[in-house]
Amino acid sequence: MENPAIPALYIGVAKTAIDEMAVFLFAFLLAIFADLGVLNSSLHARGPRHMKIFAHKLEILFHTRRHYYTHSILEIHMNPSPVQRTTWILSGLVLLLIGALSYGGYRYYELRKHSLEMKAILEGRIAELEGNLGMVSEENRSLSEALYSEQQKNALFEEEIKELAGTVDVLDRLAKTDPELLQKYSKVYFLNEHYIPSNLRKIDQEFVYKQNEEEYIHSKVYADLKRLINDAREDGIELSVISAYRSFDEQAQLKGTYSVTYGNGANTFSADQGYSEHQLGTTVDFTTKALGTGFSAFEGSDAYTWLTENAYKYGFVLSYPKGNAYYVFEPWHWRYVGEELARKLNRDKKYFYDLDQREIDQYLIELFD
Ligand SMILES: [Zn+2]
Repeated sequence: MENPAIPALYIGVAKTAIDEMAVFLFAFLLAIFADLGVLNSSLHARGPRHMKIFAHKLEILFHTRRHYYTHSILEIHMNPSPVQRTTWILSGLVLLLIGALSYGGYRYYELRKHSLEMKAILEGRIAELEGNLGMVSEENRSLSEALYSEQQKNALFEEEIKELAGTVDVLDRLAKTDPELLQKYSKVYFLNEHYIPSNLRKIDQEFVYKQNEEEYIHSKVYADLKRLINDAREDGIELSVISAYRSFDEQAQLKGTYSVTYGNGANTFSADQGYSEHQLGTTVDFTTKALGTGFSAFEGSDAYTWLTENAYKYGFVLSYPKGNAYYVFEPWHWRYVGEELARKLNRDKKYFYDLDQREIDQYLIELFD
């Protein structure tokens, strides 16, 4: 059920409303002008009268129209048909919806604009922070590198100090070591007649063959000598010292004895070489209780065999082995050269006098280690 008059009426109302608003606006503007004119005329006695009249006429027109439309709209309001009511409600809802949508759209636009601005700002800030971070990382890296290089330098320095300290230590020990102790003796190189070892000590009687005689040895050799004899005795090998340190004078006397005993042959061995080693205080002649002074038969003893197999472990070597190119074989005569050199000689199957003096000198520092 439709009332064909309603759309027409609405269109009419709309048109009139637009007209009315236009007229009202126009009249309003004119009134302002008119007021200005009144102001002007009061100031100048002769204002633009025609403007005032025009505004007045428009005012009348406006009132008339307003009266007319007010009346029509009121009439509709008083007696609306259900369709009209529904249409109004719907129109109202549509208007509300449009309003809400417009408002929402506007808010959305605003928010979006704001968020885009914020995004741009934040992106800028992030870029800035990233730049800073990069700079800090760079700085950090170069600091780390500097630290590392400092540490390297320190390590190198420490190494150098250690090396230097080591060198000093070696030199110190070398200075304190008697160079004669590992010297080779020959017909052309003797030990000075005034040479006396720095530290001599008495060998305990339990290790000495003749109970009424005192034997002396270099104090730093003594510990190894005791170990050697004790270990041999533990292995069932009886071993004693029959002769150790001998002074130059004692030596000269002995040489005389040997010379008497062996005649000119004495020069070959006892003379100036073999016995000069005893003057060092690092050399011993061994015997056994069974052999006693008859130690020339020492070669055939178990003690000799044991010594050839073990003496090097205690730093002792046989000075004049069988068939050596220098002096007669002295199986009883053992010289202390330190464990390092003794082990090397044993490993290489060489004898002390086979080595070059320069090679021997390298072991001087380790002699009493
Ligand atoms: Zn000897």
